[in-house]
Amino acid sequence: MTDRPRGTRRALFPSSVSRPVVSPLQPSVVYASPDPDTLDAQYEGGAKGYTYAREAHPNAELLEGLLNGAEGAGGGVVTGSGMAAVTAALLATVRAGDHLLGADQLYGRSLRLMAEDLPRFGIATSLADPTDVAAIEAALRPETRMILIETTSNPTLRVADVDGIVALAKARGILVAVDNTFATPRGLRPLERGADIVIHSVTKLLAGHSDATLGYVGANDPALVERMRVLSQTMGLTASPFDCWLAERGLYSFDMRYDRATANAARLAEALAGMEGVTRVIYPARQDHPDHARTATLLSGEGGHMVSFEVAPTRAAANALVRAAEGIAFAPTLGDIATTLSHPATSSHRALTPEGRAALGISEGFFRVSVGCEDADDLIRRFAQAVAAANGV
Ligand SMILES: *Cc1c(COP(=O)(O)O)cnc(C)c1O
Repeated sequence: MTDRPRGTRRALFPSSVSRPVVSPLQPSVVYASPDPDTLDAQYEGGAKGYTYAREAHPNAELLEGLLNGAEGAGGGVVTGSGMAAVTAALLATVRAGDHLLGADQLYGRSLRLMAEDLPRFGIATSLADPTDVAAIEAALRPETRMILIETTSNPTLRVADVDGIVALAKARGILVAVDNTFATPRGLRPLERGADIVIHSVTKLLAGHSDATLGYVGANDPALVERMRVLSQTMGLTASPFDCWLAERGLYSFDMRYDRATANAARLAEALAGMEGVTRVIYPARQDHPDHARTATLLSGEGGHMVSFEVAPTRAAANALVRAAEGIAFAPTLGDIATTLSHPATSSHRALTPEGRAALGISEGFFRVSVGCEDADDLIRRFAQAVAAANGV
């Protein structure tokens, strides 16, 4: 066995007068300090130094800086998943006796956290429609501490009235947390609209390659950032260096991927709307979308990279469509460099009753597309082939 240099001695890493152009990946779990005085200074903030990777490490700190910049946040914490970010935002702010109001179309696990887990800790939760400020106002209680919304909802792509909800909450001293995963910072920067906390599943379009599971919570209030950071360290919600390193690499192409995916999505939505057998197309930038006006004011008219559509509402048609969608992964995620297709009735919304799904407009023929960066003409051809197969059953 080869001995590794130990203690305060430096590892024998080969030196180079030229510098690498890529950030180093630092997987070390633990950091050795020269003496107790220095360690003491590290903990007290007098000296900068890492101690243990669950607390902090260079790859997370670097990624945090980039994400703070993207969201215009005063500070933020990178977490081990998007759900860890949702958990950090909620648990750092609410306490037993508080009420938490959520949007009625949140990500499935966020809904589950609110319905199953938080009530066990004495936190009351309820849901209301975030596109309707009057409905949100009617659902507030004297003990409401926070409102959790998503800018653009899954899978019906409704756009929340972020400005209206922020104005309402500010007047009552209630915090607003916005899960901005679908919209991305290119669609909206919630903190600039007055939200208190912004949340991301970095796993999705920000990292963009389906090879890193990560989240982020950002805020402008330093005390709030600190509470979310300490809670993440204590509960082990923090992220691995390797995932942070991959996400940093992905983030450098985020703008280009966003532009390309959004342009492709607009074209695919238009093409789907003209295809025989497609009964509904949902894309926020289209004139026929219920939140078209808000897309113009809140999202600068950008429809984003997600498109939903519906064909004949039968499982047989859905199976035929997926089988004929050549080269398009049928996978329950979004934001990958390549287009992915999901079927909410058998994945994200499978826990609902058929009536519950019908109330949201999700039938067996409903599909959600996360549009990628492929050639648009080729993509449209593949979808035309898939829709034709669904029509044939
Ligand atoms: C995927 C997703 C999450 C959860 O993120 P993970 O990284 O999978 O934990 C939360 N919110 C939204 C809107 C998402 O799409």
